[in-house]
Amino acid sequence: MNQITPQGGTDALYERVRHLVPAMEWETFLADIRAIETLKRERNAVILAHNYQTPEIFHCVADIRGDSLALAREAQETDADVIVMAGVHFMAETAKMLNPHGTVLIPDRKAGCSLADSITGADVRALRARHPGVPVVTYVNTSAEVKAESDICCTSGNAKRVVESLGTDSVIMIPDEFLARNIGAETGIRMITWPGHCEVHERFTPEEIDRMRADNPGLVVLAHPECPPEVVAASDFSGSTAMMADFVRGHASDPILLVTECSMSDNLAIQYPRTAFVRPCNMCPHMKRITLSNIRHALETMTHEVTLDPELASRGRRAVERMLAI
Ligand code: SF4
Repeated sequence: MNQITPQGGTDALYERVRHLVPAMEWETFLADIRAIETLKRERNAVILAHNYQTPEIFHCVADIRGDSLALAREAQETDADVIVMAGVHFMAETAKMLNPHGTVLIPDRKAGCSLADSITGADVRALRARHPGVPVVTYVNTSAEVKAESDICCTSGNAKRVVESLGTDSVIMIPDEFLARNIGAETGIRMITWPGHCEVHERFTPEEIDRMRADNPGLVVLAHPECPPEVVAASDFSGSTAMMADFVRGHASDPILLVTECSMSDNLAIQYPRTAFVRPCNMCPHMKRITLSNIRHALETMTHEVTLDPELASRGRRAVERMLAI
């Protein structure tokens, strides 16, 4: 648990975020942070926070932090009675799938995802009918219904390994078209794609990267694989949020350009204060629906609980567990 002192703005917790959170703003966060810590103890609850959450959530109230894969693993392992997902709805569904006896709460039901919303279970069945015998690899950024129609899931961190593990010449890889094309280019496996895009990462362009390189000599460019292939090609390294964090750890003094969601850069800048970050900022509006105040409200009222049809959850779990076994 975090240590909170009554002095508020000068406490140890504030030290973590002080170069990103102004003192005046911190004062407005303190009541919620204190209430959340008390409620977590009373409810035996943990808060899982995705890397794209704002620093006051990620660094000040989260118990478990990471990308989709890390959060899925931790949801399975935790012995807490209540999981609050400081992320988007598909992440809460995945947590519920992997921890069916726990209570999973999402502070705002409308925290969606352009990728998850791009495809339905019926779309997956139609793809299978058009390409009989071709395995379906589904990005975790999908609903439980879509996972239930899939052979195996993947994240941006393990997509290459998952696809190669199947030993086939072709794969139906859904719903992120750019991730599928990027993995197809890396592996030489024919990708049957779906036109789903992350509304944050699809907006980056190679011209933007060229401009930043011109303005920042020696810049090292890291791009998330949900970016268009021409953006990945213009970068020095492409990897999941966890892989980007690992890369930054090993290159502490380089100027680094993070081609991903704004808060990921903020959170890494807090962890690596000696690194010079260049941060083009595209924000995920869905992640930003989660706030300290609605996390507190979720724990006070035990809402909004995520429930899943047991049969659908069991089929979806099979696809997620196949991935976790790799
Ligand atoms: S950043 Fe993109 S993939 Fe992640 S939740 Fe937002 S819209 Fe979905």
